Amino acid sequence: MTRSCRLCSSLKMTLIIVESPTKAKTLGNFLPKEYDVEATYGHIMDLPKSPISVDIENNFRPDYKVVSDREDTIASIQKLAKKSKNVFIATDPDREGEAIAAHVNEILPKGAVVKRIAFHEITKEAVEEAIKHPREIDKNLVNAQIARRVLDRLVGYKLSPLLWKKVRRGLSAGRVQSVALRIIIEREEEIKAFDKKEYWEITCKVTNSKQGNSFNVMLDKVDGKKALVNNKKIADEVLTHLRSAKYIVSDIIKKEIKRNPYPPYTTSTMTQSAAVKFGWPAKKTMSVAQKLYEQGMITYHRTDSLNIAVSAIAKLRAYIVENYGEKYLSERVRVYKTKSKSAQEAHEAIRPTEVTNNKSKLVGDQKKLYELIWTRFVACQMAFSISDRTRIDVLANGKKKYLLKTSGEIVKFDGWRKVLVSGAHDVVLPDVLKGEDLSLIKADGEQKFTQPPARYNEASLIKKLEELGIGRPSTYAPTISTIMARNYVEKEDRKFLPTPVGEAVNSFLVGNFPTVFEYGFTAQMEDNLDRVAEGKLAWTSEIKKFWGPFNKKILSVEKKAKRIKIRTEKLDRKCPECKKGQLVVRVGRFGKFISCERFPDCKYTEKFVQKIGMKCPKCKKGDVVIKKTRKGRPFFGCFRYPDCEYASWKDPRKKSEKEKPASG
Ligand SMILES: [Zn+2]
Ligand SMILES: [Zn+2]
Repeated sequence: MTRSCRLCSSLKMTLIIVESPTKAKTLGNFLPKEYDVEATYGHIMDLPKSPISVDIENNFRPDYKVVSDREDTIASIQKLAKKSKNVFIATDPDREGEAIAAHVNEILPKGAVVKRIAFHEITKEAVEEAIKHPREIDKNLVNAQIARRVLDRLVGYKLSPLLWKKVRRGLSAGRVQSVALRIIIEREEEIKAFDKKEYWEITCKVTNSKQGNSFNVMLDKVDGKKALVNNKKIADEVLTHLRSAKYIVSDIIKKEIKRNPYPPYTTSTMTQSAAVKFGWPAKKTMSVAQKLYEQGMITYHRTDSLNIAVSAIAKLRAYIVENYGEKYLSERVRVYKTKSKSAQEAHEAIRPTEVTNNKSKLVGDQKKLYELIWTRFVACQMAFSISDRTRIDVLANGKKKYLLKTSGEIVKFDGWRKVLVSGAHDVVLPDVLKGEDLSLIKADGEQKFTQPPARYNEASLIKKLEELGIGRPSTYAPTISTIMARNYVEKEDRKFLPTPVGEAVNSFLVGNFPTVFEYGFTAQMEDNLDRVAEGKLAWTSEIKKFWGPFNKKILSVEKKAKRIKIRTEKLDRKCPECKKGQLVVRVGRFGKFISCERFPDCKYTEKFVQKIGMKCPKCKKGDVVIKKTRKGRPFFGCFRYPDCEYASWKDPRKKSEKEKPASG
C-alpha cells in the first residue's frame, strides 16, 4: 500500500504493518504522508497442513513455516522496513493479532526498530493515541494463541486416524467443535425421549353491560388451586360448570413497569441478534462485521467486553439530547459490567466509531448490520421505557370457584424503544370496574400438548456455548461452520439436527474419551488459556498435563475400541442394479447420497433428492426438489431438470398458500 512513488517513499520515516489491505487503505486515508502502510494479507506463518509439526519431546515446540504464497509480501515488507526509521506492527487487538505480530517481527530485518501498537477502532484519534503509546509484543497473548493452536493440533491429529479406523475414512475431530456437536446431539436425544403431556386451555369470552366491550379470560385456578385440566373428561366437566356460573370482576391489579435498554453488543449477542433478525449464520455476520471494522465504521468485532470508551459515551449522550430531547436521556450514565469472567483482550463492546456517522454510504448487508449495532448502542444510554401493566381477575362462581385471568400492557413512555423497536405490541384491556358483574358469551376448551425443548439454531447454540464457558469471541463462528462443513450436522428450518455421521462420530468420541469432550473440562481448558494470556500460567504446563493421559487413552482406544456403524436410512426401494439390496441414504464428505445397502458388494449410487411434496409449478409433471448451488445455498428446482428448468429461491409451497383466497 505505498501511496507515492519509490523516490518519495525513500523519505518515509515510519512503516505500519497490518493484516488486511482494506485496513491498510483506511489507515492510509488519514495518516500523514510520512507513514507507509503495508498489509500481510493474513497469517504469514502457520503450522503446515502435515505433518503434525509439534515437537512433543521438545516441550511441544510448534514448527511454524512461512505460508507458501506469502514470500513476495514478506520480501516487500522487509525492503520497506530497511528504509524506515520505525516499524509499528498494528495487527488486530487480540491473541491472533498478537501472534501475527510476533511472526511479522521474526521476518523483519535485524536492527529494525519495531514496536507494537493496538487500537480497537480504525479512526484517526484511536490510531494517533496508539502511536503515542507503543509497546512491546505481548508474549503472554502470543503464548495463549500458540497453546490453543498446539492443543487443537494434538487433538485433531491424534483423533482423526482413530476415527478413520473405527468409524470411517476421511473423518476428523476437533476439541471445541466436537463439544458443540455433542450439545446438538444431546438436545436431539432429549427431544426423542420427551414425553408429551396433554393439557387443556379453557377460555371464556365475557362482557359487561356496555356494548362491544367483550374480552377473553383464561382459567387459572379452581378453588384456590392451580387448575389441572389434562383430559377431555375434566375439560367437559369444567366447561359445563363454567356455562352456568355467575361472573364478576374480582380484582384489577395495575402495575407500572420500567424497562432498561439492552447492553451494547458483544460478539456473542451481535451474532445472536443477526441470526434472529436476518437469519444469518454466525460466519456471515462476522464477515460483514469484519468489513465494517476495517472501514473504520465499528469498533473491533471480536470481543466479550461491555465497556464503552468514556469519550464515546459523552458523544452519544450529547447526540441523544440533540436528536430526541433531554427526557430521552438516561438520568445517569449507564455502566455495563462484563459478565464473562474470561479476560479477552479487546476491551470494548461493539459500537459505531462515530454515532453521527453517515450510514448512507453503506449498502446491503453492511448497512443492515451497521444499523443493528447503531440502534443497540444508541439505546444503551437512553431512558427506561414505562408501561402500565394491568391484570383483570374474573371469578366464576358455580359448582366450584373458578378464577380466570387476562393481562395487558400499554406503553406510557417509549424511552429507549424510540430507536430500538422491540416487537412488543400494546395489549389494551376493556374498561371494567372491580366488583362489576359480567355475563358469559361463550366458554371453550382447546386440547394442547406440552412441547419438547426446541432444536438449537445459530442464536441459541452461541448462547449455550457462551453459558457453558466454551465459546470465545474468536471461536463461535468457526466452530459452527466447521461442524456444518463436515456434514456432522445439517439445518432444517434454520435449526441444527445431527446427521448419522455426526451421531457416529459423537458416540465414538464421547464413549471413548469421556473427559476430553466434557463441557466442564473444555470450559476449564478455555479458562486456562485465558490465564496463559494473563501471564498467570505457562502455556506448556497445561499442555503437558493434558497430553500424558490423552496419549495413553489414544493408545488403549486404538487397541480396544469397537468399530461404530453409521446409521443408514432405508428408502423402501429396491436397488435397480443388483435387484437384491434396499437403497439407503448415506452421508458422505459432500453431503447426502443414495446407495445400495449391499455396498461394497454392489456399488450402485444415485444423487440424493429431497422432495417437498408438490409438483413443479412450471411443467406440472416433475416433483419439486431441494437442490444446492455449488456454494451450498439451497434452492428449489424441478426433478425433470434439464428437461424442465424451473428454479426458485423461494419455497413454492409458501407462495401457493398465499395465493389461496382468504377463507372466512
Ligand atoms: Zn445393489
Ligand atoms: Zn418442471
